[in-house]
Amino acid sequence: MLATQDIRKAFKALGLKSDNPGASDGRAWFGNGSELEVVSPINGKVLAVVKQTNNDDYEQVITAAREAFMVWREIPAPKRGEIIRQLGQALRENKDELGRLVTMEMGKSIQEGWGEVQEMIDICDYACGLSRQLYGVQTHSERARHRMYEQWHPLGLVGVITAFNFPAAVWAWNLAIALVCGDVVVWKPASNTPLTSIACQKIIENVLRENNMVSGIATLVIGRGAEIGELLNRDPRVDLISYTGSCRMGKHIASVVGARLGKTILELGGNNAVIVTPNADLDLAAENIFFGAVGTAGQRCTTTRRVIIEESVYDAFMKKLLSFYDRLTIGSPLDERIQMGPLVSVSAVSTMFEALETIVRHGGRVVHEGKKLQGENYPGGCYVTPAVVEVPKDMAIVREETFAPILYLIKYSGPVQTAVAIQNDVPQGLSSSIFTDNLVEAESFLSASGSDCGIANVNLGTSGAEIGLAFGGEKETGGGRESGSDAWKGYMRRQTNTINWSKGTTLAQGIQFE
Ligand code: NAD
Repeated sequence: MLATQDIRKAFKALGLKSDNPGASDGRAWFGNGSELEVVSPINGKVLAVVKQTNNDDYEQVITAAREAFMVWREIPAPKRGEIIRQLGQALRENKDELGRLVTMEMGKSIQEGWGEVQEMIDICDYACGLSRQLYGVQTHSERARHRMYEQWHPLGLVGVITAFNFPAAVWAWNLAIALVCGDVVVWKPASNTPLTSIACQKIIENVLRENNMVSGIATLVIGRGAEIGELLNRDPRVDLISYTGSCRMGKHIASVVGARLGKTILELGGNNAVIVTPNADLDLAAENIFFGAVGTAGQRCTTTRRVIIEESVYDAFMKKLLSFYDRLTIGSPLDERIQMGPLVSVSAVSTMFEALETIVRHGGRVVHEGKKLQGENYPGGCYVTPAVVEVPKDMAIVREETFAPILYLIKYSGPVQTAVAIQNDVPQGLSSSIFTDNLVEAESFLSASGSDCGIANVNLGTSGAEIGLAFGGEKETGGGRESGSDAWKGYMRRQTNTINWSKGTTLAQGIQFE
């Protein structure tokens, strides 16, 4: 299941030990805070121990990062891009073991563990190209012999606070873009997944060292959110907090960072829906919704949580969907044939079953039972079967994000706009999709009066975004954008420049001041 020699092999390849310091200023590793035991959800056993960051460690890291920024911001962007290209190469070389570590630490299937590292490689490739495309616009001045243009400068120190479910990729999305933009990064990972962050930090440090770069460009502070996270939130030396996590915590962070007028990029919870219309290819819909609902054991921000199905195709669709659930393979996520591993922790399992009790108490009908799996194939208390429940559209819990494999089926009748209204009637606005072969329905869904989410897809699921365009969501999902398109602008400061080469004074708006 999780063999000691597999752990040893991954640890050796990635530079981990049974006992690891949890802070790095880019040159030295230290950790004078409390000890954190890292438990694998695969078997409930301790993988390793991490010595967390205390306040003095934090100071050392932030000081190094601020100093490094003074140097890094002067390095030409394409040269910074070249270093990120080399990071991509180092990740290619470590893809197998890093993917395995992600799986050991948070329980996603090894296919998805490798996919996560591939996403990191993809963003490095993208960021390398981007380093030659940090374009600003220019325009014509209303004043003769004046030139106007806009340029983008490095912002400063970016605090990257990440969630457990993408323990490596979210860092890479932020780090690769921030670094080519000339920023430096301090990373605070989730407490469930510190080993992955140590492995990633070692990889970037090696690349920077090989390029004779100063320390402090990429740094790490492992510690509790309420302690080290709060230090970051309140620290005016941290110019931008890029936060990935729950809506509840995102609101808190927005208020604390906002109170000091710091910048934020917020990537928060989703409550993603798929609409299945009478014009849908039901086989395609069922297959995609199945992956969207049970991939990463329902623990993606883009996990499909609600399916809104037109009544005339409801029964036929449900039959097809449940036939996928019946064939689902659950077990050790290191086994390449397994589709679903454990949830991240025992407390995540409790959250799932508390939600299921509430759903049933409020009249939901279970059509595929979520239950705890026990026995020697399922050690550690984190294995479950996913649940599918029929619910009325206005059940209160359906408006919340329960971070577990629970899929809600909701029936609609009438035009597609009825389904869109149900879809939009939740506080979150991350990802959405529609299954239809009808052009008018698809365009209606994508129009200004259609889906209100940051992501809206046609004939594919809600999860599994590519890095090429901006990723993020609206409403309580926070409004932040990361990854491709022009998301890089969030990591830079904009400057408008006007140059007078007329040798005279001309005031804008024709003002005379003589
Ligand atoms: P979480 O909110 O519990 O924790 C996320 C991070 O915040 C962790 O590193 C945690 O230590 C830190 N934190 C906690 N308290 C803090 C504080 N006071 N100040 C600063 N940091 C603090 O989330 P989680 O359980 O790790 O992840 C699941 C959530 O993340 C879900 O809601 C999911 O939808 C969301 N998520 C969103 C995206 C996205 O891109 N929109 C991606 C992945 C996950």
